[in-house]
Amino acid sequence: MQSATLESWYKIERLSDDVTLICEQFIEPYYRCNIWHVRGRDRDLLIDSGMGVVSLRRQVALVGERPLLAVASHCHFDHIGNHHEFPDRAIHQDEADILANPTQHATVADVYAPKAMFLALPPGGYEQSAYRIEPAPATRLVNEGDIIDLGDRQFEVLHLPGHSPGSIGLWEKATGVFFSGDAIYDGPLSDQCYHSHIPTYLKTMDRLRTLKPRIVHGGHFPSFDGQRYVALIDQYLEGKRKMGCPRDSAAR
Ligand SMILES: [Zn+2]
Ligand SMILES: [Zn+2]
Repeated sequence: MQSATLESWYKIERLSDDVTLICEQFIEPYYRCNIWHVRGRDRDLLIDSGMGVVSLRRQVALVGERPLLAVASHCHFDHIGNHHEFPDRAIHQDEADILANPTQHATVADVYAPKAMFLALPPGGYEQSAYRIEPAPATRLVNEGDIIDLGDRQFEVLHLPGHSPGSIGLWEKATGVFFSGDAIYDGPLSDQCYHSHIPTYLKTMDRLRTLKPRIVHGGHFPSFDGQRYVALIDQYLEGKRKMGCPRDSAAR
């Protein structure tokens, strides 16, 4: 397999609302994490950082220009690989230990990081067996209801466990922009990781159903509108109902 160049590894796409999508274009779509940059007045926001095989800070000028808080939607390898490059890092408290000590198992890299995930190999003689995530202890722990304030924009932290225990979304009520991590995106959702929990995921979906986003930027796959959002939630819930998945009595 051919190797990609440093310069071409990241693809950058400016969207509306001062949101920029950065992605690792030589990774298969299913494994390709969406890295989100949001411009704020006083500081910028980065949501997730890719798998860490090419420096995000060196290759993407946008993320090094201004003060920036690097948030992890959760601690799977494809989302936290470059967090160590940023001095200010935030994570939900339930996955703080993983960000500080990111083992292959805890980040699901042992299961989900095969060489087959690449369309072209990362530059510089990539060796699968040498792949590791750098520790990046958080400088800020966030929890449900916390506000991440960029000066002119405020994002509320929503705790969305199920895919993983410390999964979070960031909700900008004023604009209806929602960064949903891997809790919901427009593609096959995963509730089979070692620390996934389906009854908890069902409760999270019930909760997400009450939100009315204008646009959703997920952890993978293209962004989508509020109508598609409801359809995706219902599709998941319906699928689980058909399988007879047990629901906690507290849900619904
Ligand atoms: Zn994940
Ligand atoms: Zn992911």
